[in-house]
Amino acid sequence: MNIAQLLIRAARTFPEQPAVSRGERVWATYAQLMKRSAGLAAAFRNQLGLVPGERVAMLMTNCPEYLEVRYAVWLAGLVAVPMNAKLHVREFAYMLSDSGAKLCFATPDLAGTVAPLADAVPGLERVVEVGSEEYRALQNVAGAFEMHPAAPDDVAWLFYTSGTTGKPKGVMISHRNLLCAALAYFSDVDRIDATDSIVHAAPMSHGSGLYDLPHMLKAANQVIPESGHFNQDEVLSLCSKWQGVTMFLAPTMVQRLVARVRQSGADFSGLKTIVYGGGPMYVADIREALQVMGPRFVQIYGQGEAPMTITALSRERINDTGHPRYLERLASVGIAQSCVEVIVADEHDRPLPANEVGEVLVRGDVVMQGYWNNPQASAATLRNGWLHTGDVGSFDADGFLTLRDRSKDLIISGGSNIYPREVEEALLYHPAVAEASVVGRAHAEWGEEVVAFVVRRPAARVTEAELEAVCLERIARFKRPRRYLFVDTLPKNNYGKVLKTELRKRLAAENASPDSEA
Ligand code: AMP
Repeated sequence: MNIAQLLIRAARTFPEQPAVSRGERVWATYAQLMKRSAGLAAAFRNQLGLVPGERVAMLMTNCPEYLEVRYAVWLAGLVAVPMNAKLHVREFAYMLSDSGAKLCFATPDLAGTVAPLADAVPGLERVVEVGSEEYRALQNVAGAFEMHPAAPDDVAWLFYTSGTTGKPKGVMISHRNLLCAALAYFSDVDRIDATDSIVHAAPMSHGSGLYDLPHMLKAANQVIPESGHFNQDEVLSLCSKWQGVTMFLAPTMVQRLVARVRQSGADFSGLKTIVYGGGPMYVADIREALQVMGPRFVQIYGQGEAPMTITALSRERINDTGHPRYLERLASVGIAQSCVEVIVADEHDRPLPANEVGEVLVRGDVVMQGYWNNPQASAATLRNGWLHTGDVGSFDADGFLTLRDRSKDLIISGGSNIYPREVEEALLYHPAVAEASVVGRAHAEWGEEVVAFVVRRPAARVTEAELEAVCLERIARFKRPRRYLFVDTLPKNNYGKVLKTELRKRLAAENASPDSEA
């Protein structure tokens, strides 16, 4: 089934229902969204001569047109290539060239950057600025149009990985993968009613954009903040305007929102659910979030190769404070979602017993088809029928998965494994610590030593000795940081993930004395 069928279905049954809103105003009903997408899809076929399977790149910050372009691409049987708007122009050029996209849509803020690539990237025929006259003309191309009947394994979405270890790879996500992930939302994450809304505050090129699908399935309203970005005050005001609001937020965004609510006491009565994931949420942070914003949280764990759909920690578990292992559960990423098998395995892909640490492997209908034009990487990652996530973790006896760190972030000091997350959790217990990120630095004697980058809360003071004390209360002595660097911010990517490679580079580059400030 073509995933665009979700739009056709919603438009038929709920034509007058708000489909997309910009800020506080309805921008298109389902009937209007259908008409706009069908217009573009007809132009792809009838005017631009694109044939099913060809790629259309989307270099777009969040905007209402995001949805109409993507559904148009799917209606015409084409492949959407969403690009992270914060990347470098060289990375755009790489993705455009690797995907072989003939057409690229760009929002006005990015069109100037990408337009020159139409000459530089072979095969790229056209860059169209969203909302321009050219765009509107495409939308009004006349001609018969029928949805392309995609096969389940046809690629619908080519998602480029962040490429921290080499060139980004295009993850091929099929129509079946998308449908399966959408259905899993209802069994594992939350319920949605037609009167509900999703506020797309995080980038739609990533997880938030995927949560379009379950909302489309229920003909809910998709709200795009006017700024196109995550802004705490804007998001909070949207949560008082709209009802039954869901947001997908990276943990750092949750932290910022919580801090804002604490400070301003803003009304967010329309907020139903915050789904968090995409990076580690520390126990101290989620506890504070629950205290300030109430029982509104659900956690998911996924990756581009199995988007949003590996495990989930449900609202019920997150609020089950009386459970004897409540804190361990809160530190976990929950249990396998209903449409996948998840194991923790040794280096021969054999399942390990509970409490043993190994690589997280996944199999099921949400797992990608492979990497675009990269059979070697596909074979290495999809070995023995399992997706090798590169994440390291362990299950407890009840099936709750706790992630340690990505294998490349593991610190090996004096032959012992140290999982940075455990050290970060310990540091965050100190009330003066707003954020902490722990990395390894080459050390002549120990192989690596533990270094902590610490962001203090505004006006808060804390000494290294106090941080050492908080660590020694909670973790083994050999795991404590040997060096602390106090910084104003941590380097993060557009999705809010801390860029540990940057921190490691920084350590390699500098030769400061152990007690200097960074
Ligand atoms: P990406 O493919 O960019 O979405 O990155 C996926 C990676 O983010 C995963 O492989 C994990 O390492 C990490 N990740 C995703 N969700 C979580 C979560 N809930 N807790 C901790 N790490 C996560």
